[in-house]
Amino acid sequence: MEGLKGIMPLDEYAAKRHFEKTPEPPPGKRKSKAPAKPYFCVQRHDATRLHYDFRLEIDGVLKSWAVPKGPSLDPAVKHFAAHVEDHPIDYGGFEGNIPAGNYGAGSVMLWDRGAFDLLGDATGLEQIERGDLKFHLNGEKLKGDFALVHMKGRGKGNEWLLIKKRDDFASPGWDVEAHAYSVLSGRTQEEIVRNLPARKSKQKTAGAVDRVWQSDRPPKKAAAPKSPAAAAKSTPRKKKRTLTSGA
Ligand code: MN
Repeated sequence: MEGLKGIMPLDEYAAKRHFEKTPEPPPGKRKSKAPAKPYFCVQRHDATRLHYDFRLEIDGVLKSWAVPKGPSLDPAVKHFAAHVEDHPIDYGGFEGNIPAGNYGAGSVMLWDRGAFDLLGDATGLEQIERGDLKFHLNGEKLKGDFALVHMKGRGKGNEWLLIKKRDDFASPGWDVEAHAYSVLSGRTQEEIVRNLPARKSKQKTAGAVDRVWQSDRPPKKAAAPKSPAAAAKSTPRKKKRTLTSGA
């Protein structure tokens, strides 16, 4: 059944995309240096429906779950997480806009990133296979112990729950939408849609943005100002990147 899984784990990812039409990275060798600890990230993806893509580096790819309500630090909530196709490691640095007509069209914000540790002795693949994956996140927003638990015998078979464990990082009532800014560029979703440049000062990230994992995709890659009209209007005084604060 799943016997072929792992041979070419990124086939599904590649089959859904036309890499000449989307800025998303094609599968390939990771361009970044492998860090000491595995990487995780969460991308806030405003596509047909807003959702958060939760990704853990396991076995050379980003194992991925789409979480409509997003992750939470509140241990009382169990948020539905649909297990989706593996993504290449370099996808974990992606932020930008997937053009209309392409798979997943919409804006992608790098909402959180960091390193994680698996909990227990089983490998990540073994834990996914048994449907009970436990890990400790050290992100900029998400910290502490979490579990992804497969709801067996339900629907399509890809239904999991993302659960915060009770620990010092647990935060009852925590609201994911109160943290809707990029850890890569400091931008809001709307600023990403408009291709506005990265903010100079990151919001609430205490300058930690370069700490963890650096791909060779520079943070400013999405920074090209979109509107030539607006650029032409601005007087040629020295370039300022001040943005009015987004919503
Ligand atoms: Mn998505």
